[in-house]
Amino acid sequence: MSDTEPMIPIVCETCGTETRVPLSTLEESLRKHNSSRHDGEAVAEVAPEVADELASMVAEDLGLLDE
Ligand SMILES: [Zn+2]
Repeated sequence: MSDTEPMIPIVCETCGTETRVPLSTLEESLRKHNSSRHDGEAVAEVAPEVADELASMVAEDLGLLDE
């Protein structure tokens, strides 16, 4: 069991909520929220302040930053 899994903040402006979820369930959480609350529209998103960081983190994870 890993204790290093990053917790990613999800922000939904429409609901006025911010929720932290483990990276591994991020996509599922977003999809569930948006499908149950917003008819599948992509309203809830990863908090903008971490979106860039997350993108590079995931890219590193996948080795996308390697030449
Ligand atoms: Zn919402």
